[in-house]
Amino acid sequence: MSNQDKHSFIDDALNDREARNQLRHLIPYDPEEDGMKVRKNGKTLVNFSSNDYLGLSHHPEVIRRAAEFTKQYGAGSQASRLISGTYEIHQRLEEKLADAFSKEAALLLNSGFQANSTIISTLTDRHSLILADKFSHNSLLQGALLSRATFQRYEHNDLNHLQKLLTRANEQHYNRILVITETVFSMDGDRSPVEEISELAQKYNALLFVDDAHAAGVWGRKGLGLASDVPGVDILLGTCGKALGAFGAYAVCSGKMKDYLVNFCPGFIYTTALPPAVIGAIDAALDIIPGLENERRAFHDKIIGVRQAIKDTGFATGSSTTQIIPVIIGDDRKTLNIASWLEEQGILATAIRPPTVPEQSSRIRITLSMKHTDEHIKQLITALKAWRRGTS
Ligand SMILES: *Cc1c(COP(=O)(O)O)cnc(C)c1O
Repeated sequence: MSNQDKHSFIDDALNDREARNQLRHLIPYDPEEDGMKVRKNGKTLVNFSSNDYLGLSHHPEVIRRAAEFTKQYGAGSQASRLISGTYEIHQRLEEKLADAFSKEAALLLNSGFQANSTIISTLTDRHSLILADKFSHNSLLQGALLSRATFQRYEHNDLNHLQKLLTRANEQHYNRILVITETVFSMDGDRSPVEEISELAQKYNALLFVDDAHAAGVWGRKGLGLASDVPGVDILLGTCGKALGAFGAYAVCSGKMKDYLVNFCPGFIYTTALPPAVIGAIDAALDIIPGLENERRAFHDKIIGVRQAIKDTGFATGSSTTQIIPVIIGDDRKTLNIASWLEEQGILATAIRPPTVPEQSSRIRITLSMKHTDEHIKQLITALKAWRRGTS
């Protein structure tokens, strides 16, 4: 032990990834044309790999308010929320969120990842049971692991399986049960039957945590996501780094739940409050989003058109019904080849490989934004068609 190279585990892990064609690297990108294009290695690409679904990251009012709040309140918020980091802008934004969702309360958290991992482990302990969809985002899994609760995953979107696990759980002695689902799944772009899941959770007296990361801003009444009107959701989690164009996360819940999190949630308590610029950006995004009803409707039509065009080209798009469209290839190497070929055609659409998705389900993950033009989309479809012709 004492003579062993203490870093050899790192070499082993990296070499293993390399051998599987799964080693990842960071590459710098420069946003251009309001972020709809990016510059990578000196080449300008249309960006089909961002979560900026409404293009708000470059919206003039979002930027203006971020700058205004910075000027007035400073670059940082100086402390954690319970010390002196709750400025009036934090408080007002939480009230605005609660009002928008017609719920008692909202709590800001520093990111979706942080929110999921810390809230779930605050709601449960080693005497609890967590039932999560098999395709749950890694941040939700981290929360479940951290809680030391019994953790079971139900088959993806499978209500029967969930019910079976709930029935079985009722015969055991868990102090509480927490059901976790997303509304739109990040790698497949499909949706969960969130209303039915909520009915089951209520029937079995389980808590329900819903991660609305990819629906917020894009789907639902006034763009408030796919669970804002679903009764029985104990915590509705949204991220502000995706369609809201900024950063951070919000949890919408009852006043009592908020009090509990403020007092017991380590990932809320022991971290510096979101900076004024971010609060300003979220504040502006919340003013803009409800008014985009017509734009959203047009966007939804555009999504259907693009998905159909991709299918017509001969590619499978899985169970996607949203702006996240996987072009499922299967083989890792081939998927990487298509991604680099698309890049030569001026398109950024990243390859997603295991372990992010199951083995043999590697894919090109396309995310559409309201700001993609017909020209951008034509370029994508033409490139996919040309690749198909070249290989079949
Ligand atoms: C992106 C994402 C998160 C993490 O949100 P961040 O604010 O980026 O940390 C959590 N859950 C899901 C489903 C996501 O897609």
